[in-house]
Amino acid sequence: MDLYEYQGKQLFARAGIPVSEGRVATTPAEARMAAEELGGTVVVKAQVLVGGRGKAGGIKLADTPEEAEAHAAAILGMDIRGHVVRRLWIERASDIAKEYYLSITFDRGEKKPLFMLTTEGGVDIEEVAERSPEALARLHVDPLVGSQPWQGRWLVFTAGIDEPAEQKQVAAIVEKLYDAFVGFEAMLCEVNPLIVTPEGEVKALDSKFTVDDNALFRHPDVAEMRDVEAADPRERLAREKGVTYVKLDGEIGILGNGAGLVMATLDVIDQVGGRPANFCDLGGGGDAQGVVDALEVITSDEQVQAILFNIFGGITRCDEVARGILAALGQMTIELPIVVRLDGTNAEEGRRMLNEAAPSNVHVEDTMLSAAERVVSLR
Ligand code: GDP
Ligand code: MN
Repeated sequence: MDLYEYQGKQLFARAGIPVSEGRVATTPAEARMAAEELGGTVVVKAQVLVGGRGKAGGIKLADTPEEAEAHAAAILGMDIRGHVVRRLWIERASDIAKEYYLSITFDRGEKKPLFMLTTEGGVDIEEVAERSPEALARLHVDPLVGSQPWQGRWLVFTAGIDEPAEQKQVAAIVEKLYDAFVGFEAMLCEVNPLIVTPEGEVKALDSKFTVDDNALFRHPDVAEMRDVEAADPRERLAREKGVTYVKLDGEIGILGNGAGLVMATLDVIDQVGGRPANFCDLGGGGDAQGVVDALEVITSDEQVQAILFNIFGGITRCDEVARGILAALGQMTIELPIVVRLDGTNAEEGRRMLNEAAPSNVHVEDTMLSAAERVVSLR
């Protein structure tokens, strides 16, 4: 789950990383009030789950509360790369002398967390990595040993930060960022820019914070930060129903049992010239309610023109899944063509049940390839 900038900063603050004081606003009037409370120059920042807000015009300095109100009116409702701005963060403006970049994320290849620090902050880190890789200090952390004070110092010296007061502050922030990363079970904590003010104070001006969904049950306070309004409505429906659902951009809706089988199904659809619109993983289940839930999610996507069930019966028996499909189609009306491929345990019985009792838009196939060809031809 991705957090908004201000939520990430709240977690930074809890870990002891310096951030600026600010307020959330959802209307121009609230933005004005926030600016009055904060006093002086403020920065009005669009809160969207996508980067590059500055370049898109979603970040504006305001010298007066009136100006903050006007900027808020302009930024609210703005579309930033497909994300509509519904919230703002009004923060006391900082003077910036230098912009650095600091992050920690997982390096899956090394199976370790990886710190990156560079004095060339404020821009895309990919750009820095390409243009001047020597400017990017990279350090892996052994997760069993954890963070060590030398690591912050190593990063600071390797990145070429030479002001002693800055070295100390940045090294301390490195340690605290590791605490935040581990403590909140994050997958990414990025500070871009990490600024140095003209007075020599180092602080986090931006945050990108991604927490591990699978650990959220241990962090109810972080789980509460989820903005349900921002999620795709189908993904929300799937989450509520406990269905594993992924949106793609083709026209075939796919239901399978087991992630590996579903992945293979996507490949076969592609091989025969179709494009998957989405997929649901029924997992080990295939009971009527599971099938109804998955079909509801899949058919709520208008892009779907035909549906493919790809079931391999192992522990789950094909006759049970066939019963589930029949019960589901008894409860809901689906006019789209549906192709069902059943194989494995009790496949013959399952196919017979569907051939006898299923509505006429249901087509039964024996193999994955023939089912894929059939569903693509019916779309
Ligand atoms: P992003 O564009 O989504 O990465 O948003 P950031 O929060 O990183 O802000 C983008 C840029 O806006 C920063 O790199 C700064 O140059 C500028 N900016 C943001 N906050 C302030 C501030 O308090 N004072 C000043 N002077 N500039 C700011
Ligand atoms: Mn940024």
